[in-house]
Amino acid sequence: AKPRVVVVGGGAGGATAARYIAKDSKGAVDVTLIEPTRTYYTCFFSNLYLGGFKEIEDIGHSYGNMAANGVNVVHDWAVGVDRDTKTVTLAGGASLKYDKLILSPGIDFVDMAVPGWDISAQNAMPHAYKAGSQTELLKAKLMAMPQGGTFAMVAPPNPYRCPPGPYERVSMVAHFLKNNNPSAKIIVADPKPKFSKMALFQEGWANHYDGMVDWIGEEFGGGNVSVEPDAMMLTIDGEETKVDVCNVIPAMKAGKIADMAGVTDGNWAPVNAVDMSTKADPDVYVLGDAAQQGDMPKSGFSANSQAKVCANAVRGALTGSKVFPAKFSNTCWSLIDTNDGVKVGATYEATDEKIAKVDGFISATGESAELRKATYEESEGWYSGITADMFG
Ligand code: FAD
Repeated sequence: AKPRVVVVGGGAGGATAARYIAKDSKGAVDVTLIEPTRTYYTCFFSNLYLGGFKEIEDIGHSYGNMAANGVNVVHDWAVGVDRDTKTVTLAGGASLKYDKLILSPGIDFVDMAVPGWDISAQNAMPHAYKAGSQTELLKAKLMAMPQGGTFAMVAPPNPYRCPPGPYERVSMVAHFLKNNNPSAKIIVADPKPKFSKMALFQEGWANHYDGMVDWIGEEFGGGNVSVEPDAMMLTIDGEETKVDVCNVIPAMKAGKIADMAGVTDGNWAPVNAVDMSTKADPDVYVLGDAAQQGDMPKSGFSANSQAKVCANAVRGALTGSKVFPAKFSNTCWSLIDTNDGVKVGATYEATDEKIAKVDGFISATGESAELRKATYEESEGWYSGITADMFG
């Protein structure tokens, strides 16, 4: 019988891994991808949808090409993993045997991380940190804000999915409000003293959105936050503010199935950098946000990069094909305003201990408009590239 690989989660990590193993093994490995949704909305560029730069259709992708690429796509939830019998069970009742199991389930939220907020409050106070209906809801609320109203964000503590994501979102919300609701205000309550590309964002907010963004960092009580979703009340360091929109982005942990598989330690799954296999089980791999990824940030670019390392190693282990040394890379682009793109990135290698940073780069403050426009265009090229790499 052919060796069997089961991949749980059809996002940046899982879709890439499934496609590469199927494609490169040319039918020698059976690859099954478990993913409940039929349309995957990328979180990447979802902020640009909020800002009006993209339509929701632009960020939705189907799994239609995966089958043609040799991947057996099953639209269901994985609800259990038995590592002794090497079996994954699905919500629909089926069970699947594997020789190698790859988990890339993304994130879930830490319960009660923001007092007053739990998942039942996500309609009143959306997180929009899993893209799709939540992103559409946040946009609808943004569009319905009264003139001169207040948009609040509760930013997450480290480590979390997409370090610049909340701040790109603030920029895109500000862009929308500047054109549609110029007397509105944005409050950001942040449990961190600083954040990714901080100097670049703060320069951009000052240049484009003068006075609109009030960022309240950890030293100003930004971490001492609670919410009352029914009353649309936000309390920062004892001070109550009635807000019109409240985007709560709670603390994060690995998607629950990683926990159920018993491969997490605390909130994330420790992995061996050389092939992304877990420390708990050499036949179970964890990719992307759910993994403890050493020096890499939790990004779609990172997950895609890790998936290729993992796919190469898994195929090698199952078919004897050549395994190349693990090399990783990441770039996180952010759009601050029209044609004002910035980026931060790095390359990485596998050490015994972790995925270790080799070299990095970051946009500078004060760059020319031409360079910022070129950086934005680069991000559009990357978006087309990664989605083609994931879905074929
Ligand atoms: P995901 O892509 O989330 O995929 C996980 C999949 O697993 C989901 O489709 C889910 O349905 C499925 N799943 C979960 N549990 C189960 C289960 N039990 N059974 C079956 N399936 C399951 N990254 C960038 O590189 N560039 C950016 O510009 C960028 N911008 C971002 C902006 C925002 C606002 C946000 C929130 C994120 C952004 N990211 C960006 C981060 C990026 O989206 C994530 O890091 C990336 O999607 C992680 O990939 P993943 O495979 O770990 O998880």
